[in-house]
Amino acid sequence: MTTPRPHRNPLRIAVIGGGPGGLYAAALLKRLDPTRDISLWERNARDDTFGFGVVLSDETLGGIEHADPIVHRALQDEFIRWDTIDIVHRGHTLTSGGHGFAALGRRRLLEILHQRCTSLGVHLRFRTEAPPAAELAATHDLVIAADGVHSPTRAAHADAFGPRITTHRCRYIWLATDFALDAFRFDIAETEHGVMQLHAYPYAPDASTVIVEMREEVWRAAGLDECDEQQSAERCAKVFADALGGRPLRGNNSSWTAFRTVVNDHWSHGNTVLLGDAAHTAHFSIGSGTKLAVEDALA
Ligand SMILES: Cc1cc2nc3c(=O)[nH]c(=O)nc-3n(C[C@H](O)[C@H](O)[C@H](O)COP(=O)(O)OP(=O)(O)OC[C@H]3O[C@@H](n4cnc5c(N)ncnc54)[C@H](O)[C@@H]3O)c2cc1C
Repeated sequence: MTTPRPHRNPLRIAVIGGGPGGLYAAALLKRLDPTRDISLWERNARDDTFGFGVVLSDETLGGIEHADPIVHRALQDEFIRWDTIDIVHRGHTLTSGGHGFAALGRRRLLEILHQRCTSLGVHLRFRTEAPPAAELAATHDLVIAADGVHSPTRAAHADAFGPRITTHRCRYIWLATDFALDAFRFDIAETEHGVMQLHAYPYAPDASTVIVEMREEVWRAAGLDECDEQQSAERCAKVFADALGGRPLRGNNSSWTAFRTVVNDHWSHGNTVLLGDAAHTAHFSIGSGTKLAVEDALA
């Protein structure tokens, strides 16, 4: 005689935030066990997004390929690839080769992850504020707070997570230009107001992400604190005309921002876990936040 197996309810998982980290975690958790009941809340619309291209390294792509070949194949079809870094200073270009990078538009990355979540059966709720994490924690087995750099979950449970947030003094703006650079490009411009830096990379056959950064006093001395998005894009395009071949820059709800380093003493509290920018940030000069959020989901 066989003993009936005890009935187990499917694991219930709540994901707060539909950025790359939350979406990819939801897809991977569902793929591991299709019986899981996984819901994701995103306060923005399906196609609202900021930023331009996102970069993933060969190392991250290896993890993605291993975890879910379907997402990997979809990304492969979109990628633009390069392996050199050019550093330009006082008219000299220092080139370092052999670094494998691949990039695509953030919007396209989110579309691929939306499709994968939908086909696996994750419940995606757009334009919907997530219930507070404490409420979700009482009704779900696991709560993933992938709610970004300003994480409401982290703030609501600051005693448990122990966040330390440092707002830095440099100002930066995310812009784009309508041609593909052939390398990661770092330009250091010594202007009459002080040093300004460009950090740029391609993300489509006809587009590159361009980040301009400088110390706060340089930003104020140059009058960029009084410039709107359009004026900022025009001023930056002028400073970095050589790198851009004289082409214009454009924004996408872009504004001057101070980078915030987020560190937490703990990344989990009971059955709630922080993921991506909510848990940690890394300055874009040492690795894109998207890559780190995706790696958190893989982990
Ligand atoms: C202006 C800007 C531009 C950027 N551009 C680039 C870029 O071009 N390339 C790059 O690699 N990185 C870029 N980054 C960094 C990158 O966006 C992050 O590192 C990365 O998106 C982190 O992923 P995430 O999933 O952790 O968080 P996010 O992508 O920030 O996603 C968090 C999501 O949670 C949602 N959310 C928060 N609270 C709630 C709630 N209570 N209910 C429902 N939804 C909620 C938010 O709407 C958001 O969509 C940019 C960052 C900024 C601020």
